[in-house]
Amino acid sequence: MRSPFFNEFAVTNHPEKTIKDEYYLKNITSYYGENVFNDEAMRRYLPYRVYERLQKIIETGEPIDDATAEGVAHGMKEWARDNGVTYYTHWFQPLTGLTAEKHDSFLSFDSIGKPIERFSASNLKQGEPDASSFPSGGLRSTFEARGYTAWDTTSPAFIVENANGKTLCIPTIFLSYTGDVLDKKLPLIRSAQKLSEAAVNLLKLFNKDIKWVSTTVGPEQEYFLIDKFYANNRPDILITGRTLFGALPPKGQQMEDHYFGSIKPRVLAFMQEVEVELYKLGVPAKTRHNEVAPAQFEIAQIFENYNLANDHNQIVMETLRKVAEKHNFYLLLHEKPFAGVNGSGKHNNWSMVDSNGKNLLAPGYSSLEQLEFLTFLVSVLKGVYKHGDLLRASVASAGNDHRLGANEAPPAIMSVFLGNELTKILDHIENNREMLFTNKEKIDLGIPNFPLISKDSTDRNRTSPFAFSGNKFEFRAVGSSQSIARANMVINAIVADAIIDITEKIKQNLEKNNDIFEAVIDVLIDEIKLTKPIRFEGNNYSKEWHEEASKRGLPNLKNTPEALKVFVADKNKELLSKLGILREHELEALYTVHLETYVKTIEIEAETALGIAKTQILPSVVKYQNQLLDNLKLSKDLAFNVQTKYEYVEKYSKLVDELIIDIDSLEEELEKVEQIDDEQAKAEALAEKILNEKMAKLRKTVDTLETLTDSTIWPLPKYNEMLFIY
Ligand code: ADP
Ligand code: MG
Repeated sequence: MRSPFFNEFAVTNHPEKTIKDEYYLKNITSYYGENVFNDEAMRRYLPYRVYERLQKIIETGEPIDDATAEGVAHGMKEWARDNGVTYYTHWFQPLTGLTAEKHDSFLSFDSIGKPIERFSASNLKQGEPDASSFPSGGLRSTFEARGYTAWDTTSPAFIVENANGKTLCIPTIFLSYTGDVLDKKLPLIRSAQKLSEAAVNLLKLFNKDIKWVSTTVGPEQEYFLIDKFYANNRPDILITGRTLFGALPPKGQQMEDHYFGSIKPRVLAFMQEVEVELYKLGVPAKTRHNEVAPAQFEIAQIFENYNLANDHNQIVMETLRKVAEKHNFYLLLHEKPFAGVNGSGKHNNWSMVDSNGKNLLAPGYSSLEQLEFLTFLVSVLKGVYKHGDLLRASVASAGNDHRLGANEAPPAIMSVFLGNELTKILDHIENNREMLFTNKEKIDLGIPNFPLISKDSTDRNRTSPFAFSGNKFEFRAVGSSQSIARANMVINAIVADAIIDITEKIKQNLEKNNDIFEAVIDVLIDEIKLTKPIRFEGNNYSKEWHEEASKRGLPNLKNTPEALKVFVADKNKELLSKLGILREHELEALYTVHLETYVKTIEIEAETALGIAKTQILPSVVKYQNQLLDNLKLSKDLAFNVQTKYEYVEKYSKLVDELIIDIDSLEEELEKVEQIDDEQAKAEALAEKILNEKMAKLRKTVDTLETLTDSTIWPLPKYNEMLFIY
């Protein structure tokens, strides 16, 4: 007999064409960005003066004047109307990590009461969603509900399509009535500005007159897809985003046959539709492939300016969800949807680019350029060295805790991988006070030369949380469901801080001796020595590294409650407020919000586990136990030898008893923990007592029962169904 969750649909499903003719088999360039108020649309819809002025404002960051805003609002509305849009929304990224929207119609009435479509400068510039329902960490009580969204001129408006209509989305930042930060985007933008200032000043010492420095970001997004039918039968997935129970199938990912394997037609059809939707929105989706775990996949965007990359990654996650729904898939963005199977992360590729388009983390050709490259590289090392804890905190979440430190993802210990060649170069500078030569001669300038590092010659280390990969760093600890905003804010901030520091030191040296090479190399030597503890080229998963890291004094913040405290540590408060990114009370609020989120998450998981155990698992196993007992009784009545059967039924019955005990025990402990007043103590208790102890124990019993119970009775779809039949 088949399991009640045998999924005929998933087995027989052959994908049909779901892409509209306008896009099917068309060149991407013929419709790329058609739903974006991009440069082309602006040129068409804005008076030239307004267009020019807006470009200037975007470049210089000065506040927008009323006349320009009015002109842009009008043009944007006309463009949107021509595309059939009737509603608009300020699109923002509150501390929940999701995006939020509140839709308003263009509908308005003129002086004689006739309906007209209107969109004014103030509609564009500022919105006032009721902020009381968004987390603020005490920055705003419910009665001071006012929160503002403010137009982010640097990220273009776009149109989101739905079955029955279209909505104009205007990217905005979100702040309170009192000007306090309530979102993830404003601190990100501020951090990037700080980094720009710092880098421009450093480049001046190299005699470079650069207008600005920006950061480029390319996230690689992992996700799981399962058939919707399974998800609908798994309350744990629907409520918590992950499976709270489930025995490992005999074939997990041991065979390693999924990674880069051929993509199943049904999944490929889904991916193709996702890509069309993304291209319409000007999101540069580029790479698609199977990931390591069964039913796991990846989509990568081509890198762009950090702000766009951030908005685009939010759009990618939303689009994946929407299209999955249409294809009868259920999208799992959770960091660890299946225990014992690889989790999902987001590799955040990060670099800096100057206003001439030069990648500051690309080694460069002349010796001066290479010196400059090394200065930026060492600044990154210094940032991570001084504030690795903050980097760790930037990716802290209940979901990501299952991943960081497990044997698949980077550990919670922050270290940097540079690769052989760079290591050699840094060692050489440290020991010989000179850069390595390709040809043994020095060139006339007295500035030595050293080899170019071609991208392919940087070896790879998949276990490092922060790895240099030729011309960028890859921060691998970000969780798959997280916004990349926080991680990038922290990277920008800690690197800006290090650059400011290093610039100052170089300046002091230059005052003594006006030779840039001499001035820089001395600083580099100091910093290379200082930052050694965070450089690690070995296997980050190994036990030895954990021991070594603790000897080096590197923090190993194992879970979210521990990691979040970092946001309110004096040194970090000082850093972020000094740089003008987040003030002390905003950091306190941020800590509070994330701690509350953690507490709620674990509480909900525990309640969900209890609910499933009590109302689904226990009734099912009791039913099976009764069947076994009936059979035993019948056998006995017939005077069979029942010894073997007896032992089996006894063993099963003991497990059923254990299940009851585990349920009670989790319930009792949860009640106790919920009484704890102090939120930090509560979060810690939830992590240790509830999640690690009681929930883990309950799961172990349930999973054992799963392997012993009649499949036609088992109340939940199993791992082997969810992961392999789709
Ligand atoms: P790798 O094979 O090292 O992962 P890829 O070329 O596949 O490198 O790129 C991975 C991601 O890194 C992509 O999203 C890509 O756009 C991004 N990327 C490449 N160069 C940069 C850069 N200068 N800054 C930020 N991201 C970058
Ligand atoms: Mg990569």
